[in-house]
Parts: sequence; C-alpha cells; structure tokens
Amino acid sequence: MKYSRHQSVIGKEAQKKLMDSSVAVVGVGALGCVAANLLARSGVNLILIDKDVVSVSDLHRQILFDEKDIGSKKVDIAKSRLEKINSDIKIDMYNIDLSSENIKILERCDLILDCTDNLETKFLLNDFAVENKIPLVHGSATKDKGYVFNILPGRPCLNCFLGGSKSLMTCSSAGVLNYLTNVIGSLQVSQAFKILLKENYEKDLIRFDADKIEISKIKVNKKKDCSVCKEP
Ligand SMILES: [Zn+2]
Repeated sequence: MKYSRHQSVIGKEAQKKLMDSSVAVVGVGALGCVAANLLARSGVNLILIDKDVVSVSDLHRQILFDEKDIGSKKVDIAKSRLEKINSDIKIDMYNIDLSSENIKILERCDLILDCTDNLETKFLLNDFAVENKIPLVHGSATKDKGYVFNILPGRPCLNCFLGGSKSLMTCSSAGVLNYLTNVIGSLQVSQAFKILLKENYEKDLIRFDADKIEISKIKVNKKKDCSVCKEP
C-alpha cells in the first residue's frame, strides 16, 4: 500500500487526515520544492504559487527541476512532476505574484507554508494567516543558516519579532547551501504534519546552523500591542 511505511508510524487515522488536507506552498523555490515533494508523497493535496520561471542558477537546490526546464514556469513543471509522483492528490497551481488583491485564493487551504524569500510576501502571508486564523509555517534559509517558525491563532506572529525589518538577505544576494534548504523544507513539513494532526508543534523559533550542525530553539514573545496579532 502506498502510504504503509508512513502509516506504521503515524497511524491510519492520521494518514487519512493528511489525505483530506490541503496545503498551500507559497514559493516553489528551494524550500517549496522540498516541501511540495514530501507533502505530495504523503498524500496531501496542494496549492502551488510562484511567479517565476526556472533559471540555471536554481538547479543546484530546487530539486523538482532539471536542465530541460530552464525558462519554463516553475508551477507548471512542479505540478506535472508531482502528479507523476502521486496521481491520487489534487494539485492547483497559480503562476502569480501574490498580493493583497489575489491572496484570497488561500482562504480554502488548511495550512500555508511560507517558502518565499522576500520580506514583503512574508508579512503579507503573516497578516492574512493571522486575520483568517489559518496556520502558517514560516521558513527561510540563507547562506548556512535557516529558520522555521509556526504562526497559529493566539500565538506570536512574524510581526512580533521581525516587525520593522526592511530587508532580508536573499539567496540571490548571499547564496545558500543546498543541503540547508533540504533540512529547512523538511522541518517545515514536520511542523505542518504536527499542526494538521493537532499534535504538539514547536512553539519556539527553530534555528538550524548547517556549518556547525547545530539546531537551537529561540523563545519568541508576543509583542505587546502588535499591530497584526493583538487580540481585541
Ligand atoms: Zn504579532
């Protein structure tokens, strides 16, 4: 049976729950490729969002693409590859630049994975997730360090600790190690499973140092009067 090795660990009910779930993967780059691959193989339905085409510099870390895909839309290639991996799941895709005008397409998903690499979209997702009470798993990876943070109703949000930040080092400016993005994308999926299955997800900010091979957890406090997650 397709999911038997997973089911032996998480149980039949949990596997069924995963197969009934829909996860939006925003950004089908390094983190998004890893996360979408694992989610598809686990039987989770997907919504893929990315505006870019595949370029040669993506191939060292974006594991759903190969040389013949250069110049093609990432969401097109990712969808057709993932459908070959698991034809039982439903995959919707959007070749768009996510904005406040079109973000409503995320309303029907059970969970959002932030696999983007720019702060503007990260804050847009944070605001939307908090307002609509949709769990959001933040991920970022640059050079040799990566972060994962779960944003759920009543918990601290991205604005609580990154509010006021104007820029983020990006992979295009600073580079990134390909084994780091595999770890961070995988950690995001581990947290997505915990949240979808209503298990004990990580409350702290997870930091992974791929140089020292060190994982650490950093406590994040809810910011008093946070303009995004302050409850009325
Ligand atoms: Zn907040």
